[in-house]
Amino acid sequence: MTKPIRLAVIGMGKIACDQHLPSIAGTQKFELVATVSRDGKPSVDGVQCVRSIEELADSGIGIDAVSICTPPQVRHDIAQFAIEQGWHTMLEKPPGATLAEVIALRDAAKAAGVTLFATWHSRYAAMVEPARAWLRGREIRRAKITWREDVRVWHPGQEWIWQPGGFGVFDPGINALSIITRILPEPLFVTKSQLFFPGNQAAPIAAEVSMRDRKGVPVEMDLDFRQEGPQHWDIDVETDAGTLSLSHGGAKLSIAGVENRSEENAMEGEYPGLYKRFAALVWASVSDVDVSPLRLVADAFLCGRITMVEDFIE
Ligand code: NAP
Repeated sequence: MTKPIRLAVIGMGKIACDQHLPSIAGTQKFELVATVSRDGKPSVDGVQCVRSIEELADSGIGIDAVSICTPPQVRHDIAQFAIEQGWHTMLEKPPGATLAEVIALRDAAKAAGVTLFATWHSRYAAMVEPARAWLRGREIRRAKITWREDVRVWHPGQEWIWQPGGFGVFDPGINALSIITRILPEPLFVTKSQLFFPGNQAAPIAAEVSMRDRKGVPVEMDLDFRQEGPQHWDIDVETDAGTLSLSHGGAKLSIAGVENRSEENAMEGEYPGLYKRFAALVWASVSDVDVSPLRLVADAFLCGRITMVEDFIE
């Protein structure tokens, strides 16, 4: 059997601990050899922890790959350093704070001959591939994205989300865009965007974005961080054969009101799916860097009309 890929995880916050560590522990494709945390505190018994990627390079620990789970604002420099070490590099979403830095990383990885994987975990939700398969060959008439969650519940204490490059409500919203760009056959363009900024924050708390595809099919997106009560991570696509509804962030699918429970094409879990894909990319010596969800966010900001709203105090 191929030897496990020796992996370090960088940025031991919520997503690293909730999803990355269990997924790595659950596969023989990777061996966790180090964690990188600014306070130097180990996250996993028996696994060495260092304070920075520079310290990791100096440590003498044998590394093949890194998985970067920091906020987007600091991701580029860490990833560029990793690529320069010859380490295969996996990026949490969004892959960077700007498009240009992600393209620069893609080019650097290519020049260095290492794998760069810009992950979109929501694309690995169970029902995304079945939805994509069902939509093939249908006449798509319109689509609606409703992504409304309570920021106090899902992002407590995450100050970076409100800072420039933190994306605000587009931090979850880009997950919806990663799904819609996967399941719809045509590229999307932003036509109108309304961004709602709390007076005391540098990132939007809500957004209404209108898009259309190349054939003129309208796609509306409603994002809101102020949602209390039921939370919504839903995409509805109206077609000539009825409405396809993906809910729970892509975990559930119903077509014309009938829930689809078929396992055909279903994924085995978002983060296990990401690590399986990363290993396959490394072994095939190729990269996977799709910037289309990030490009739509950038365009929503470029076209955005800004409305100031009530201050947000956590
Ligand atoms: P988080 O809990 O705030 O953790 C981020 C970690 O990155 C921190 O704990 C810190 O780890 C490290 N870090 C390095 N430089 C930092 C800096 N300048 N400011 C703050 N932290 C810094 O955030 P998260 O929820 O894990 O999100 C991280 C990334 O994963 C984001 O891009 C997010 O979009 C994505 N993501 C999050 C979720 C989720 O449900 N939370 C789901 C999917 C994807 P150390 O203290 O160990 O250095």
